[in-house]
Amino acid sequence: MLIQVRNLEVRAAQFDVEVPPGEIDFFDEELRQIGPLKATGKAELEMGGLGEIRVSGHLSVQTEAECARCLEAARFPIESDFVLNYRPASETDFGDEKEVDPEEAEVGFYEGNALELNDVFREQVLLALPMQRVCREDCKGICPACGKNRNQNECQCQKSITDDWWAALQELQ
Ligand SMILES: [Zn+2]
Ligand SMILES: [Zn+2]
Repeated sequence: MLIQVRNLEVRAAQFDVEVPPGEIDFFDEELRQIGPLKATGKAELEMGGLGEIRVSGHLSVQTEAECARCLEAARFPIESDFVLNYRPASETDFGDEKEVDPEEAEVGFYEGNALELNDVFREQVLLALPMQRVCREDCKGICPACGKNRNQNECQCQKSITDDWWAALQELQ
């Protein structure tokens, strides 16, 4: 859905959309959208006449990505409220006139006279994902020695490495 900035000068734009998988490019090959992304909210022009748009609302989507430790597919449900600000990319001296407040909500840019809502959703999904994508807090990962998923079967490699380490340490003492 494209938000025309000119229309926002008259009134805020409300949205209530469902975006099917595949429509949003997350620029992340590991990340898959499972099921529709649902978002409701509004886009409005900020006061001041500089063309800054504030998009706020609520977004929910089911995503899937590889666990960073065991490489199995893991689900990352996203359910979050958001407030994102967008400035016109053409407003080159914007930065000089207004100090960027570090406390301020995330600020992005839009090209031309319209803002693509899917770009807003992509940004919010990437912000809402955990920094470290793991299938579970205590995922044991893959054994670096034998390559087995240690959540599924406990191999003896780690144990013998530790044993060797202790043996070496004891020899030193
Ligand atoms: Zn895992
Ligand atoms: Zn092993």
